[in-house]
Amino acid sequence: MERLVRSCYKQGGYVFAKKAGGRTHGAGDHRVARLASNENPEGPSPAAVKAAQEAVLSANRYPDERVDVLVAALKAHYGDYTFVAGVGMDGVIETLMRTLVDPGDTVVISTPTFSFYGLAAQAQGAKVVSVPRRADFSVDTDALIAAGKDAKIVVLCTPNNPTGNATSADDVTKVLEGIHGILFLDNAYVEFSGIDYLPLLRKYENLVIGRTFSKVYSLAGLRIGYAFVPAWLQPYYTRAGTPFTVNSVSAAAAAAALTDRAHVARYIAQVAAWRKRFATEVKYPVLPSDANFVMVDVAPHTSDEVVEKLATKGVLARSCRSFTGLADHYIRVSVGEDWENELFIRELNAL
Ligand code: PMP
Repeated sequence: MERLVRSCYKQGGYVFAKKAGGRTHGAGDHRVARLASNENPEGPSPAAVKAAQEAVLSANRYPDERVDVLVAALKAHYGDYTFVAGVGMDGVIETLMRTLVDPGDTVVISTPTFSFYGLAAQAQGAKVVSVPRRADFSVDTDALIAAGKDAKIVVLCTPNNPTGNATSADDVTKVLEGIHGILFLDNAYVEFSGIDYLPLLRKYENLVIGRTFSKVYSLAGLRIGYAFVPAWLQPYYTRAGTPFTVNSVSAAAAAAALTDRAHVARYIAQVAAWRKRFATEVKYPVLPSDANFVMVDVAPHTSDEVVEKLATKGVLARSCRSFTGLADHYIRVSVGEDWENELFIRELNAL
């Protein structure tokens, strides 16, 4: 019966990071350092937990389809922008593709990067074009513009997953001015970077900035993300979206998480301190990062070999082998708790 499945799903799909279960057999330590998925190791803000508990009491009702509680909190936090929400930023990306991409349209992606843009674009029948970054992983804006000038969507992740580096607001401006379609700027890790792209929203009608509550806000399990969109796009996004896609518990938790600035600031400080320590204490080259993870060049070892070995020592890191366009000797490791980071450094250096 598999002949009935769409050809774009016959192979491939999203490559998930290694899970704890079964990966660390033989480590002799119950504590596993979970550094493969760029999560905040601290639990959610108590304010978010309380809001979620209260919201679940009304779970017999359908959620507010406009997600007003979250939109109001986002406006209180960031100012008067137009917002849309989704089931994680993944959900936002999927709905955005559904809103804009007709079969045969071109979607241009700056690579190596997060894989879901390409998968979501292909699901809409898009022609996906990758534009490689330079050898130092900076964005070749001229090449991106040349390929993306007439594309429906150009995708740029900054800070980029998995390389960790950010693209300057000036370079983003250049891209915005050089293309006729939408620039989707993935800001999943922007809170760790200190770069502010929001002023660009006042000037450009073709900019969408995707954000998530999965990283700095510690709500990965609740699957909630959002985007700053131009006002003209918002009604169409809503039309294209699955009805009631954002659930009431996640929306309430996310709105409350925005108010707990101390929770966020603690992890941002932890990340800044550990990025420096990784750079000096890891014996392999650590690439400069503006995110809550670093990419490490483990040559002459291969990425899979190192990730497998670390797993046997109770450290989960991410092999970057599945990232198209990246050589086979990079691993990505998140900033976790102190003991996790220390264990990672000790075990990697001992390989
Ligand atoms: N964009 C990037 C660059 C990511 O790394 C991730 C998650 N790993 C996402 C988007 C998706 O985030 P969410 O959990 O909000 O779906």
